[in-house]
Amino acid sequence: MIGAQIQKLTEDLPQDVTLVAVSKTKPNSAIEEAYSVGHRDFGENKVQELCQKAEELPNDIRWHMIGHLQRNKVKYMAPFVHLIHGVDSERLLAEINKQGAKNNRVIRVLIQIHIAEESSKFGFSYEEAKALFTNENQYPNVQIVGLMGMATFTEDKTQITREFETLSTFYNTWKAQKDLSVLSMGMSNDYPIAIASGSNMIRVGSLIFGRRN
Ligand SMILES: *Cc1c(COP(=O)(O)O)cnc(C)c1O
Repeated sequence: MIGAQIQKLTEDLPQDVTLVAVSKTKPNSAIEEAYSVGHRDFGENKVQELCQKAEELPNDIRWHMIGHLQRNKVKYMAPFVHLIHGVDSERLLAEINKQGAKNNRVIRVLIQIHIAEESSKFGFSYEEAKALFTNENQYPNVQIVGLMGMATFTEDKTQITREFETLSTFYNTWKAQKDLSVLSMGMSNDYPIAIASGSNMIRVGSLIFGRRN
């Protein structure tokens, strides 16, 4: 069922949109089902769970860290993580840089922008992101490859569209200058709006794996 679901979802996506299958709380067997139909991008939001699954599952899986990340946990996944989506502060960026250097690699990250009009979500403001992009790059072991945003949890499609489109506009403003290529927005409930607004990476969990407890 998971395999069929992921194939159906992938077939319907535009060519340039990457699907990150969000496997948090789900067992290895669920990931293996998706893996068996060729899927390789998986997202987790807890470092411990991410590391354990990475150790137990095939090496060619691309692991995405999608959730809020504490600085003291970066070291555990620094050797192998494919992309960190939720970089929401400069202090976190500095820590990722430090761990990147220790592991002799450049870690790819997305800057999370606070796009939701509600106040509970993490992220840089547009002003802070602009300052980050304007200042000289102090983080040689980090590559900022794009932006990530989460819309307000609401039924109001107009509001979701407005939040995604504002982020998309900001992304397009900096894309060429900062060599950005990833705009991560859209989840099970709002990914069609996100894609229509310019997203090229969606993070979908429950639609693939079923509801989480
Ligand atoms: C859990 C999660 C998702 C996936 O949510 P679904 O509604 O299950 O698709 C996407 N992004 C982030 C940051 C998440 O924590």
